[in-house]
Amino acid sequence: MQLAERAGNISPSPTLTIDAQAKKMIASGVKVVNFGAGEPDFDTPDNIKQAAVEAINSGMTKYTPVAGTEELRQVIVDKLARENGLDYKPGEIVVSAGAKHSLYNAFQVLCQAGDEVILPAPYWVSYLEQIKLTGAVPVVVAARVENDFKITAAELEAAITPRTKVIILNSPSNPTGAVYSGEELAALGKVLEKHGVTIISDEIYEKLIYDGLKHVSIASLSPALKEQTVVINGVSKTYAMTGWRIGYAAAPAPVAKAMADLQSHSTSNPTSIAQAAAVEAIRGDQSAVTTMVSEFVKRRDYMVERLNAMAGVQCNRPGGAFYVFPSISALLGKKYQGTEIKNGSDLAAIMLEKAHVAIVPGVAFGDDTCFRLSYAVSMASIKEGLDRIEKILGALS
Ligand SMILES: *Cc1c(COP(=O)(O)O)cnc(C)c1O
Repeated sequence: MQLAERAGNISPSPTLTIDAQAKKMIASGVKVVNFGAGEPDFDTPDNIKQAAVEAINSGMTKYTPVAGTEELRQVIVDKLARENGLDYKPGEIVVSAGAKHSLYNAFQVLCQAGDEVILPAPYWVSYLEQIKLTGAVPVVVAARVENDFKITAAELEAAITPRTKVIILNSPSNPTGAVYSGEELAALGKVLEKHGVTIISDEIYEKLIYDGLKHVSIASLSPALKEQTVVINGVSKTYAMTGWRIGYAAAPAPVAKAMADLQSHSTSNPTSIAQAAAVEAIRGDQSAVTTMVSEFVKRRDYMVERLNAMAGVQCNRPGGAFYVFPSISALLGKKYQGTEIKNGSDLAAIMLEKAHVAIVPGVAFGDDTCFRLSYAVSMASIKEGLDRIEKILGALS
């Protein structure tokens, strides 16, 4: 059977190769420390689960409006006003089966062949493939480790051409944990406003933010920027609800309508029961988020300190999300038991094989001089995993 060109061009996620290998080892009894996790290790809070149970028992088991229930969209409108200083109407909100789905819909209705999409690297793996699926060309702009993996207004300006249609921004970032300040976003916003570039702003890690930093939505910086931005958010990361599949987009009405129309012919509404749970997540008691954040801070601090104490490792202190993205540039060219380490992928392979530690090579995110470690893993596992990493690095020559 002949696949369509579109399907043949999709690269399988490089993160899954390591993951599959790690799972195979675990299944055969090997004690693998898995730093690959892309989701919180906490359970969904009880009040949220309860809301879903009530939804089932009260018969909320049928189709809802394609873009989400009136109630959920109103709860999202209230949240965006209260927390982000953004004034939307329910008709400008589209709820989808996860933020990944919201992003997919946004790229599909905004981009086409001939367009360029600016993609700051390191980037989340799915952006690249979702851009390619529209026929648009991803234009990767490398953010420097010295600038905490954030692009500057000058770097942005240099990447813009007459074909530039969209930029994807992600703060706090997966994989680097970097958080753009209001000033940094304003500087980027000025350039994007001048050139009329549409912004897709992925704010899924908004509440997993540390050290008193404040999340700023670029859409809140001026009425013009709001008009050219699609805000993406969801409940997966903040409320440990990755399996429930609820994300949303807030966008100017014509864009929101196009996204809802597209969705009406693919998935229809996201699960009715999960929508009821999301209402409780966003509107209800927020104390579980505080607990999760304070646990993540402890783990981050421990990890950053341990990694920076290892010779040749440079680890920035991420302000948000639950990943660290240490650079191992200084170790490239060294050898482990005769095998040369040419890049992050080589090191990841050695770590898994020799130390039974799963880390994600940075190549998955567009930077193969780094690797990603998740701290959505118990403190005990973090300690054990870092001990093993230290041992391997100590044996390099
Ligand atoms: C996890 C993640 C998402 C998607 O989350 P959903 O579970 O689809 O809501 C989107 N963007 C980034 C950067 C992520 O890490």
